[in-house]
Amino acid sequence: MSILSSLANRDRVFDFLVPAESPVDVRHGPILYLEDVTVSFDGFKAINDLNLTIDDGELRCIIGPNGAGKTTMMDIITGKTRPDSGKVWFGSRHDLLTMNEPQIASLGIGRKFQKPTVFEALTVFENLELAMAADKRILPTLTARMNGEIRDRIDEVLLTIGLAELRERPAGILSHGQKQWLEIGMLLMQRPRLLLVDEPVAGMTEQEMERTAELLTGLAGKQSVVVVEHDMGFVRSIARKVTVLHQGSVLAEGSMDQVSCDPRVVEVYLGAEAEEEAV
Ligand code: ADP
Ligand code: MG
Repeated sequence: MSILSSLANRDRVFDFLVPAESPVDVRHGPILYLEDVTVSFDGFKAINDLNLTIDDGELRCIIGPNGAGKTTMMDIITGKTRPDSGKVWFGSRHDLLTMNEPQIASLGIGRKFQKPTVFEALTVFENLELAMAADKRILPTLTARMNGEIRDRIDEVLLTIGLAELRERPAGILSHGQKQWLEIGMLLMQRPRLLLVDEPVAGMTEQEMERTAELLTGLAGKQSVVVVEHDMGFVRSIARKVTVLHQGSVLAEGSMDQVSCDPRVVEVYLGAEAEEEAV
């Protein structure tokens, strides 16, 4: 029995039933809009009057020293953390602050966490197949046509993530980098409109980093991609527009060249490096 049919028997429904075009409205503005967002943890403002606008199809890099609020920002966008104040909109139709995590995910916002969480005992193909599953309603049977559509989508994603030749191998044998790509592929199965990717190249080899740069730049345009990354060389290799976060706010924004010449950015990064050396 295939993974899909066994899941179907366990009362799952599959996300290909959701139309490829999510209902996000970007006709009159950005795909993601954060205004004056603030969140405190025990009185400490992890995010402090943050303003951020991401255009449809844009690839944006967010950089900033440890503790700048990068992960917290993603937590807010995905509904994991509620801000104390501010606005968070997905297109002009969806106020994300009125929605919970599953609702936000179903709008087409996919998040890639730092650590890969693929199912090691399953094949690459099965991992992608599983990514179609979503426990919403009961779907007792899958028609042949639905199966065919899923298979086509898996083939397409396998090519995108460069794992077509490893499709029948267990995910456990993949390198760290390949696991990261597989997980990006699992997100792509749902045809997201916005992908949030947290530190994708941590622990990767140079070659894997290059391949990841190609993958992410190739995804942009088809969907919007927000990449949080520490590795400046990597950011330089993919970046169009860069946002520098510091103490929960935007410190600088512009091209990589523009922000890396900005004296405030230099100071923050040199300060962070000095701290790291001191530890
Ligand atoms: P970054 O991802 O840029 O390194 P984070 O968003 O993880 O930064 O953290 C920003 C700040 O908020 C840090 O000082 C961190 O310790 C604090 N923080 C994040 N999440 C929590 C939480 N759930 N409770 C308390 N403090 C938190
Ligand atoms: Mg982080």
